[in-house]
Amino acid sequence: MEFFLKYLSDELNNIKEEGLYKSERVISSSQSTTIDVNRSDVLNFCANNYLGLSNNPMLIKAAKEGIDKWGFGLSSVRFICGTQEIHKTLEEKISGFLHQEDTILYTSCFDANGGLFETLLGSNDAIISDALNHASIIDGVRLSKAKRFRYPNSDMNALEQMLKDSQDCRTRLITTDGVFSMDGYVARLDDICNLAEKYNALVHVDDSHATGFFGKSGRGSVEYKNVIDRVHIITSTLGKALGGASGGFTSGKKEIIDMLRQRSRPYLFSNTVAPAIVCASIAAIDLISNSSNLIDKLNENTNYFRNSMKDIGFDIKDGVHPIVPVMIYDAKKAQLIASDMLDEGVYVIGFSFPVVPKGEARIRVQLSALHSKEEIDIALSAFEKAGHKHEVIQY
Ligand SMILES: *Cc1c(COP(=O)(O)O)cnc(C)c1O
Repeated sequence: MEFFLKYLSDELNNIKEEGLYKSERVISSSQSTTIDVNRSDVLNFCANNYLGLSNNPMLIKAAKEGIDKWGFGLSSVRFICGTQEIHKTLEEKISGFLHQEDTILYTSCFDANGGLFETLLGSNDAIISDALNHASIIDGVRLSKAKRFRYPNSDMNALEQMLKDSQDCRTRLITTDGVFSMDGYVARLDDICNLAEKYNALVHVDDSHATGFFGKSGRGSVEYKNVIDRVHIITSTLGKALGGASGGFTSGKKEIIDMLRQRSRPYLFSNTVAPAIVCASIAAIDLISNSSNLIDKLNENTNYFRNSMKDIGFDIKDGVHPIVPVMIYDAKKAQLIASDMLDEGVYVIGFSFPVVPKGEARIRVQLSALHSKEEIDIALSAFEKAGHKHEVIQY
């Protein structure tokens, strides 16, 4: 025991020495565009709260009514005594929203991905995965016995070569994030679907950074790239735009979803999603389906911020997504800028190796529909001031 604890503390010290130790800032308010962290009323530009629903009164009301009517929890997995009418309702709502035949809920998208590949694919099959896919896809793929191929991010030539190399496999599944979270890049889903059709492969998209707000009516990158009827499996989260609590799901053809209900281990052996979350998620999808106001406002904010940052002279990764990577390149500078900005009352986070490649440190800004123009202007001036101080932009 002594030996083992010594080993752990040495490892932890190494992590600290490499500057990779993550400490958690403690928030003493609810999640919103202004939060209390270190000081009160800090403007928050680093949550996945794309539509500002984390603290939305309609969702909170739905969650409270959900507790009153359906109780706090089910103390059961779905197939024993953990399925209520609301679980069925939410699954149907998600299927309708995403134009898919059926949907299965999980307690997280991490679990949805963890229980996907192993259940559907065996040693005669192949999984072809984008190198920048989320950790939960990587772990899910590891659990499966299928052959594994990995193509460099969005490299369609490499993907095509792998489709050729795997022709003898029974089923090939291409798996990709819909939006890559460190760059805000959208996957080339139209090209991927073309290749999948040419080589008779299936397509899985994890749309966690897109469901609810991206694409014309918020159906995600699959809508933005106009492939909603051409992909075969969509996984996503309830923990980002759709209220930000927790929970995830898999949508697709009914045979696929039915098989997941029979065999997917994180579904079979983990507790059902709590009623308050289910009821609030139903309200979230209704809200998005009934009005595009929040989506429009988010797009307006994203365009305004992206254009203004370019005008100020910052180097940002091109795109249209509310994830805006502000490229600083130098890891130390990125930390210093983030820290200076917090002193100015603007909360942003610097990302460096190993989360992003060496020499590509950045500050990742995330816009929300709830940010006002005045609040974005405050962030822009704080960026400008810190950018000059650390010589990232010139006068
Ligand atoms: C956030 C995220 C997840 C994890 O979602 P949870 O519901 O929090 O487990 C999975 N995949 C992608 C692409 C994500 O961005």
